[in-house]
Amino acid sequence: MTILITGGAGYIGSHCCVTFLQAGHDVVVVDNLINSRAQSLKRVEDITGCKLFFEEADIRDQDALERILAKYDCTAVIHFAGLKAVGESVSQPLDYYDCNVVGTHRLLKAMEATGVHQLIFSSSATVYGDPQYLPLTENHPTGPVNPYGRTKLMVEEMLTDVAASDPKWRFGILRYFNPVGAHASGAIGENPLGVPNNLMPFITQVADGRRDKLSVFGDDYDTRDGTGVRDYIHVVDLVEGHLKAYEALQARSGNDNCFTVNLGTGTGYSVLEMVRAFERASNKTVPLVIAPRREGDVAECYADTKKAEETLDWRAQRDLTAMCHDTWNWVCKNPRGYDD
Ligand code: NAD
Ligand code: UDP
Repeated sequence: MTILITGGAGYIGSHCCVTFLQAGHDVVVVDNLINSRAQSLKRVEDITGCKLFFEEADIRDQDALERILAKYDCTAVIHFAGLKAVGESVSQPLDYYDCNVVGTHRLLKAMEATGVHQLIFSSSATVYGDPQYLPLTENHPTGPVNPYGRTKLMVEEMLTDVAASDPKWRFGILRYFNPVGAHASGAIGENPLGVPNNLMPFITQVADGRRDKLSVFGDDYDTRDGTGVRDYIHVVDLVEGHLKAYEALQARSGNDNCFTVNLGTGTGYSVLEMVRAFERASNKTVPLVIAPRREGDVAECYADTKKAEETLDWRAQRDLTAMCHDTWNWVCKNPRGYDD
């Protein structure tokens, strides 16, 4: 069974390659390397002792996708490729609609042309917008508050419509909460190019001296210590959820051909709790200042995990200590990311 992994050189995609190779699948990665390094795929091969195939291509290139799907006789697609920076999506919305929405449309057209009908999609908890209640269940109303979130919701809707049009299609829509951590080997991990937007990479860059201090965006939220609460999930748990989703898709038939599930732990941690946990795991101090709230942030966001347990027979296994420890292990072993 050859699985096409789009965006497989990226943070989550590279971990997913490890999990699928170790489960005995053949893997071909399509990535245009706009936010990643091909070096990550060499590391995947080192970890697994398995060979994978890499095709440098853009998901908007339908001809290239058709050629690749046919060449490797792919049976399913795991679709990570896309742009993901919320702030950038506000300043460059057309790039986001083009890459995330048009790109997925071309991918689906290429799949249709080559007779590949199974796809797992990387969506995000950001499609829920400001939570009306917690924990967030999958039937919570959607209402993304930025262009990035709207591209994710549009793709979800496109997949739902395509699934309804013909039972030959099978889709798993996975709404990620906050992926953090790295493979336990320390050989692959998150490698943000430029100033990190997300909390965990910023904390690590303060801990290793690349940045002076962390700005905590607001300490006046209605949460236990006033700082924002999120559901952080270890990236290896997250990709194991993809393997379970792939297996669940094989068992689907008829009109029961599309599911949407949250991938989170169900537990929220505040910014200050994350800093303290990271300090314990790394034995480093993380200086911080309280800064104004960041526009568009919600106070609290964490998953209801029941549907994932029922649909996928999956729940996250790794705790906050493992998330922080594995992140620090990756950073210490690769101070310049993949650029060494
Ligand atoms: P990433 O940037 O590390 O990986 C995305 C990969 O896609 C990169 O390797 C990039 O080069 C590639 N890519 C981008 N546009 C492409 C295109 N047009 N054609 C081919 N390749 C392209 O990001 P990630 O954190 O691994 O995220 C993977 C997916 O999960 C994304 O779709 C993202 O929106 C989604 N997601 C991520 C998070 C998170 O916090 N990391 C949360 C929710 C959802
Ligand atoms: N955050 C922060 N300082 C930073 C980056 C993030 O205080 O430099 C906070 C942010 O306000 C939120 C939490 O950390 O409460 C998680 O932010 P992140 O961007 O990682 O995830 P998201 O907001 O997309 O869930």
